[in-house]
Amino acid sequence: AKRGRLDSFVAKKLQVSKKAVRNLLIEKQLWVDGELATGLDQQIDEFSHIVCASEVLQQFTRRYYLLHKPVGVVSATTDDIHPTALSLLALQQSEQAMLHIAGRLDLNSTGALIITNDAKWSDALMAPERKVAKEYLVTLGNPIDASYIQPFLDGMYFGYEDITTKPAELEIVSDYQAKVTLHEGKYHQIKRMFGRFRNPVVALHRTAIGEIKLADLPLGEYRELTQAEVDSVK
Ligand code: URA
Repeated sequence: AKRGRLDSFVAKKLQVSKKAVRNLLIEKQLWVDGELATGLDQQIDEFSHIVCASEVLQQFTRRYYLLHKPVGVVSATTDDIHPTALSLLALQQSEQAMLHIAGRLDLNSTGALIITNDAKWSDALMAPERKVAKEYLVTLGNPIDASYIQPFLDGMYFGYEDITTKPAELEIVSDYQAKVTLHEGKYHQIKRMFGRFRNPVVALHRTAIGEIKLADLPLGEYRELTQAEVDSVK
């Protein structure tokens, strides 16, 4: 998050000198998050609510959304060819500008996509050491069987990045479908893991990211996260 000093922020925002800001502080005109400012060097960030002489200088609310991403929508903030995930959220331009995606999905994948303006929160959600479970329903081109389970658990070595995947759980749903749980997210990871069996992924759908479940959210629609879902990451 963009942290900094209160006086620098106010001076820049109001185009006044630091000395003028000092006077505002002395005159008890500066408020941070509903309380009188405590000092010129008080630390603030992009979500601090800042008021000067009854005028709101900064007011951003933390936003957390879950989108059911359709096929053909790109997990990016801008794209020349495809519609972006952000464009599916009916938000004002100023709100949209601060949003980013936490944990991308491929263009042809569907399911749970998290969009937020809280970078500290999304960093925590995606931190490798946290190993948040991402659940996928995978549809394959060829039949699968129990011989897939152990290699997913053991991990697979990918020479290109020189990595071995972390233990992943695979549960067989039917001859052509599996439930896969990853605790990381490498580039095209699921497609590449099934590639080891020469079995093409024909559909990939993410059903959950940690405590945040897609459930019956309709395709292309979105909702705000509940407070409990937001708090599950802290
Ligand atoms: N693995 C993939 O191959 N694609 C995704 O979108 C997510 C996981």
